[in-house]
Amino acid sequence: MTLIVDVHAHLDHQDFSKDIDQVIERARQAGVRAIITNGINPETNRKSLELAEKYDIVKVALGMYPIDVLRKDIEEGYPLKDQPFDIDSEIDFIRKNKSKITALGECGLDFIGSDSSQRKNQIKVFEKMIALAEELNKPIIVHSRKAEQSVIEVLQSSTIKKVVLHCFCGKKGLIKKAEDANYYFSIPPNIIRAHNFQYLVEKVNIGKILTETDAPYLSPYKGRRNEPAFIIETLKKISEIKKMDVEEVGNIIFMNYQGLF
Ligand SMILES: [Zn+2]
Repeated sequence: MTLIVDVHAHLDHQDFSKDIDQVIERARQAGVRAIITNGINPETNRKSLELAEKYDIVKVALGMYPIDVLRKDIEEGYPLKDQPFDIDSEIDFIRKNKSKITALGECGLDFIGSDSSQRKNQIKVFEKMIALAEELNKPIIVHSRKAEQSVIEVLQSSTIKKVVLHCFCGKKGLIKKAEDANYYFSIPPNIIRAHNFQYLVEKVNIGKILTETDAPYLSPYKGRRNEPAFIIETLKKISEIKKMDVEEVGNIIFMNYQGLF
């Protein structure tokens, strides 16, 4: 059976509240060995820890999504408590749970519709998360929408080495910079339609590629919820682009996962 890993999912999302047991079971049947569920704020960080406690294949990353976009981005179907929270006490919470976590994330920058003071604020939070990742010696899983250049700049102004760029949509020059810095790129199942991810896979060495779902988002099937079992579609597409066997691609990505996490 092909080995599969999902380094970025949101299993605490309400879309999974009714059938999470079946979703995990289907993942197992499909060969999924690990799913890293990512928190984005205090509420989801706690839910993610609970999920990791309940299912052995679920690992957890605790994070802090770009604050200003948090509400707007998740208005549909992700009923998070809309209370402001204290960044530093959440950082303390993450620190206290360091033995339970595989990585830090989701965090990063999202410049869609943000003004310059919001951007500055996002960068400040991102820098704190990077410092925490270095302190705890954990990989960091990074979101970078319409902010790819700034994300690379902020990362490179630190000394952090273990980086996963999730759904990275930066252009050629930035892909090169990230690859030269030995960052990893995690590829979602919508690669079967999305040419930018196909291009990314073509350009980047297979040794720097990981797979993710961002479930319930970024499904390979239009209009259908995404889930970890669907990663087989990503592997098929990568194997086509890299002209390699699916099993072999699965093995290499699994090794990449083990090497990083
Ligand atoms: Zn995500």
